[in-house]
Amino acid sequence: MGQPDAFPGLLPLHTALPKRMLHTSFIELDQEALNCNIRFLKSLIPDTTRFSMVVKANAYGHGIEDLLPLIEGCGVDHFSVFSVAEAMRVQDVMRNQNEVMIMGFIDDDYLDWAIAEEVSFFVFTMERLKATLARAKALDKAARIHLELETGMHRTGFCEDQLDEIVQLLQSNPEFLRLEGLCTHYAGAEDFGIQDRIEEQIATFNRLCSELGRRGLHPTYRHSACSAALFNYPETVMDMVRIGISSYGFWPNEETRRSYLREHQLREDPLKRILSWKSKVLSVNRVPEGKYVSYGQAYLTTRPSKIATVPVGYGYGFSRDLSNNGHVLIGGQRAPIVGYVNMNMVVVDVTEIPGVAVHDEVVLIGRQGDQVMTVRSFSDMNNSMNYELLTRLPGHIPKMPLPMAAPVQV
Ligand SMILES: *Cc1c(COP(=O)(O)O)cnc(C)c1O
Repeated sequence: MGQPDAFPGLLPLHTALPKRMLHTSFIELDQEALNCNIRFLKSLIPDTTRFSMVVKANAYGHGIEDLLPLIEGCGVDHFSVFSVAEAMRVQDVMRNQNEVMIMGFIDDDYLDWAIAEEVSFFVFTMERLKATLARAKALDKAARIHLELETGMHRTGFCEDQLDEIVQLLQSNPEFLRLEGLCTHYAGAEDFGIQDRIEEQIATFNRLCSELGRRGLHPTYRHSACSAALFNYPETVMDMVRIGISSYGFWPNEETRRSYLREHQLREDPLKRILSWKSKVLSVNRVPEGKYVSYGQAYLTTRPSKIATVPVGYGYGFSRDLSNNGHVLIGGQRAPIVGYVNMNMVVVDVTEIPGVAVHDEVVLIGRQGDQVMTVRSFSDMNNSMNYELLTRLPGHIPKMPLPMAAPVQV
């Protein structure tokens, strides 16, 4: 390697070039913030509860390949994904003894792969259960399955009237169907307006688990909690939790954040953003008063202006909803976006920021001097949630782990 920045996917000719600005922006990942988040979240669950970090959707935009070693560095050994492709990417980079679980889609073509690789997976239809049994028999190997139960979300999951058939299938094929989990998912545990619905789901899940237990089905893990359930319904923490957004340093929503901090009398937010998104100034120009800037007539200068361009646009994950609306940080100050967000660029007004020059750092998400652009402020502006904004970050943006501060000697 030699060069810590080397980008392995490129022609040998290019491998010595720094990957930071290979594309038009880059993402920094803060291992210390990740450590803080995982330590905090693990402090909320018993030692005996398995912590599965949800790394679907390219680890919520943070990059599976780049973030996974950092997550493992925090002692996490179980990863949840949605698809086979994500599971394969996790497997390629994870340490051997760690585990991956698919919560979503597996085409029949990939069942053999999942069983042979000992990847565990959710089963929520009779078709999937029967196909799994058939493939496990053909491979003469047990499939590690998590039965998802329908408890009130009405999306995926087995209904109560299917349980007889399931019990029968599992009990007659213990060597091929290994019941690793019983699980369910809540229909919005961050939404205080639907508390009744969530409480009913919790009760239904507990009842169905007991019922299956009485009939002799004993899974290794009962699991139901996502981030919001962990904070708002601690009773949903069972043998395993599946935690996504909060491990990345974001609350499921603002109400959950406020209620949690208030209830636990916390002054400081225990969750730290691990991602910063940065670019550079592409050009700086003067524009006279009374001129339209960029496409169309979205923005008219009302004074002699200085404008800068930044090479990120809606084609690179920067939402067009931020046209004439969002800000970026340049020179430690907020620079408003003027006119439409283009496919490859945004134009920002830097009239009041002295000395802005080509190549200056631009912060799209993160800190610069005293100013911070949070994902929340960013997504409030374009009415999308943390989740959506993060997962829309293009996978190709280079990820740069920040160097750790020297460990404290004790
Ligand atoms: C995405 C997901 C989670 C994690 O949710 P967060 O709100 O990000 O913690 C847990 N379980 C299932 C089934 C999911 O799809």
